[in-house]
Amino acid sequence: MAKATPISFKEFRTKFATEDDCRNYLFEERFPDGFVCPKCGGREYYYLKTRHTCQCKNCRRQTSVTAGTVMNRTHLPLTIWFWAIYLCATDKRGISAKGLARQLELSYESAWYLLVRIRGAMKDRDQNYMLEGLIEMDEAYLGAPKRGKKRGRGTERKKMAVAVSKTENDCPLFLRLQIIPDVTTASLQDVINGNVKPGSTIECDGLKSYPALENVSIDASAYEVGDLKWVHVAIGNFKAFLLGTYHGSCGDYQPYLNEFCFRYNRRFHPAELFTRLSRAVATSCTLLS
Ligand SMILES: [Zn+2]
Repeated sequence: MAKATPISFKEFRTKFATEDDCRNYLFEERFPDGFVCPKCGGREYYYLKTRHTCQCKNCRRQTSVTAGTVMNRTHLPLTIWFWAIYLCATDKRGISAKGLARQLELSYESAWYLLVRIRGAMKDRDQNYMLEGLIEMDEAYLGAPKRGKKRGRGTERKKMAVAVSKTENDCPLFLRLQIIPDVTTASLQDVINGNVKPGSTIECDGLKSYPALENVSIDASAYEVGDLKWVHVAIGNFKAFLLGTYHGSCGDYQPYLNEFCFRYNRRFHPAELFTRLSRAVATSCTLLS
């Protein structure tokens, strides 16, 4: 994979000025070693200028640079997509649909559509690797408790699983956040299966659902204050992010969790965030309905 390089505002404006510029960039990212037909693997193609698609010389399948990605069948200009990616990547706190609509003079619906898909690409990218080794894990609750309702594990609020992998020297590496229906072993096992390499060690508190988890070792000795430090730092930072940018509450939390994780996992390379995010969008394969 090509190295991600920082890009200045001036460079961005020059490099993504026209639809053709954006299309050429997407082609390079999607087919770094030259065109490959997704149907038959053929390498030779005709370029159909009017349709902006590559037609395979072997099976005649037509493929556009956005087909199968989160940009599939988009009606928005590609330049708008790249502006949205740029604004999303360069605003440290994340950008809301309202903010994006205002900056790009779009309808709220179009801005919302762009952000949902960009966050889908973020998730896709992070799913390329699994957490491994030593992992702190805990659960957290989102949204304010209703008056008179329970707090803590029996609450009706949205629940999320939080997992942070770390080095032997206790430095945090990668983060995953996932909405879970409850804190049963089955739900936590789903989180493990989708995010953690078999053989890893999970550090957790004394919740009864943990010891029965399969494919991982459980270290449930984290009872003391200050244990599971990195999951608690991540939870605090996520809640601040949600509050600052999205005013704390939203219907479907998972896309915001995905955005937070994508940023967190690239926190040592903030200047490269645009390049990394545009690459994530160009090569995404999540088809959202
Ligand atoms: Zn083909």
